[in-house]
Amino acid sequence: MKIYNTLTKQKEEFVPIREGKVSMYVCGPTVYNYIHIGNARPMIMFDTVRRYFEYKGYDVNYVSNFTDVDDKIIKKANEEGVSAEEISKRYIEETKKDMEALHVRPASVHPLATQEIDGMIQMIETLIDKGFAYPVSDGTVYFAVRKFGEYGKLSHKDIDDLEGGHRNINVAGDEKRDPLDFVLWKPKKDGEPYWESPWCQGRPGWHIECSVMSKRYLGDTIDIHAGGEDLIFPHHENEIAQSEAANGAEFAHYWMHNGFLNIDNKKMSKSLGNFFTVRDIQEKYDLQVLRFFMLSAHYRSPLNFSAELMASAKSGLERIRTAGDRLLELKEQASGQLTEEEQNLLQGAAEYIKKFEAAMEDDFNTADAVSAIFELVKYANTHVTDQSSKELVEKIYQMMQNLMNILGVDLTTEEDDLDAHVQEMIAKRQQARKDKDFALADQIRDQLLAEGIQLLDTREGVKWKKV
Ligand code: AMP
Ligand code: ZN
Repeated sequence: MKIYNTLTKQKEEFVPIREGKVSMYVCGPTVYNYIHIGNARPMIMFDTVRRYFEYKGYDVNYVSNFTDVDDKIIKKANEEGVSAEEISKRYIEETKKDMEALHVRPASVHPLATQEIDGMIQMIETLIDKGFAYPVSDGTVYFAVRKFGEYGKLSHKDIDDLEGGHRNINVAGDEKRDPLDFVLWKPKKDGEPYWESPWCQGRPGWHIECSVMSKRYLGDTIDIHAGGEDLIFPHHENEIAQSEAANGAEFAHYWMHNGFLNIDNKKMSKSLGNFFTVRDIQEKYDLQVLRFFMLSAHYRSPLNFSAELMASAKSGLERIRTAGDRLLELKEQASGQLTEEEQNLLQGAAEYIKKFEAAMEDDFNTADAVSAIFELVKYANTHVTDQSSKELVEKIYQMMQNLMNILGVDLTTEEDDLDAHVQEMIAKRQQARKDKDFALADQIRDQLLAEGIQLLDTREGVKWKKV
């Protein structure tokens, strides 16, 4: 399996630290509002990466934080006249609802920055002890960037160029020793949440949070660290500096970054007003369409969001689902086991699974993986007919479903699944009637009724409705 590593700027073979296991940290959102569809892109993509690893038999320890202390949260709290905690709690809950609706599975752990302050203080102390950080008189603690020789290795920036860009920003009297130095701990301002520390009552800088939460839940060195490409610099560069300076070990072997989501070819931003939350989109579309749309592109490419592209994703997904529905219908009336000819057909279908896997193993090329599914759909539409055995229909359906599950998109909608279930029960009831086992027939009818399904015996056959 190959992964494009931002650190080396090339695709590299994935070699896990521990055989059969993957440790993965994905920077999560700052919770001061509903998440937007840009935030949804890393969630969906890295959830898909996780699902693929699991499909390959890996045991994935997936950690994704919520940044629940931040200027934006405090600002929102002040605007509403409530506590910062109330804001962050509210939007963690709302974000979790959106994640569920997007079929983004909960992480193994979702740590909260505010619950990890002790670990942050400890890491900052270690950095001071080792000479990588220094406190100044107001209690701010800075990381001394030039002490970390490899600074810039992730973003491929030259430290002297960075310094040039910063030179004028240093304010007279500032005790910061170098304009590049960044904050690890800062003093509280009036009305802000704060914690006690050896330096002052205050709160942590943003970067230290992730270094500490990753260490606590995954260890000093992890397999994969991921997030949107805007995080490469300075966030991830600073995380590397802090973690490697404090732990004396490499922080992450592979760094994965998703490209940005644009709207109508413009950068999506609040100030431009071209900004959609996941909730906005949910009013107009099935969120499964949004997920399918995002996975139809390669994660490292910029992705343009537009009504036309969503419409095309919708019709593509419908094409796949129609094929799935057709197989479910065929399954109802089919019987028997695979014939010899069908064995060959099945082998033909397996080629598309290989194609799907090859695409995913090439730096998670979900665009090509989706194409492989379309090819499988076409193959099934051509080769699976009302003459096919039940076993063949079931096996091909299962193949399609397995691949769609990796993408986190349902092959059939809940309605279809329900219909398939009821049809199966109806068939059993008909059989019971034929066998003159009326007790069983009644029992099936009652069971369905208990599930909220009423059967109607009509001249055209048995129909059903929800009650
Ligand atoms: P934030 O809450 O801004 O820290 O963002 C949470 C995650 O969403 C980070 O991984 C960001 O890189 C990512 N992100 C934010 N905006 C976009 C966007 N427009 N497209 C793709 N990813 C984004
Ligand atoms: Zn982070």
